[in-house]
Amino acid sequence: MSESIRYINGRPMQCKDIPDLMFLEAVREATETSTANVWKVQELLENVMGPIPWNLLLAKARRLIAAGKLTGCACGCRGDFAVPAPPVIAGHGVWVDRLLAVAAGTGSRAAESR
Ligand SMILES: [Zn+2]
Repeated sequence: MSESIRYINGRPMQCKDIPDLMFLEAVREATETSTANVWKVQELLENVMGPIPWNLLLAKARRLIAAGKLTGCACGCRGDFAVPAPPVIAGHGVWVDRLLAVAAGTGSRAAESR
């Protein structure tokens, strides 16, 4: 178990001491082998950063979820975090095809032919 407070330069460690990208990378890496549950993410982060207090880990997860950079649950359950995939144009269906057709100057014909 990690300690409840860790001091960095004489002050308690804060969320900002865990870079967003490092947390998200830990989630990505955990997802490669199993689920990114909170313990696996903590283990991966602690391998690089040293001990991370449990409450701080959850607070960091809550911030990332609030910012839309992470999905999952930071209540203290297993979490099952995931990094949302960036939107892909191909996944947006027919209206993107129409927009692209309009941009290409074939919009009205392309729409009528469907
Ligand atoms: Zn939960």
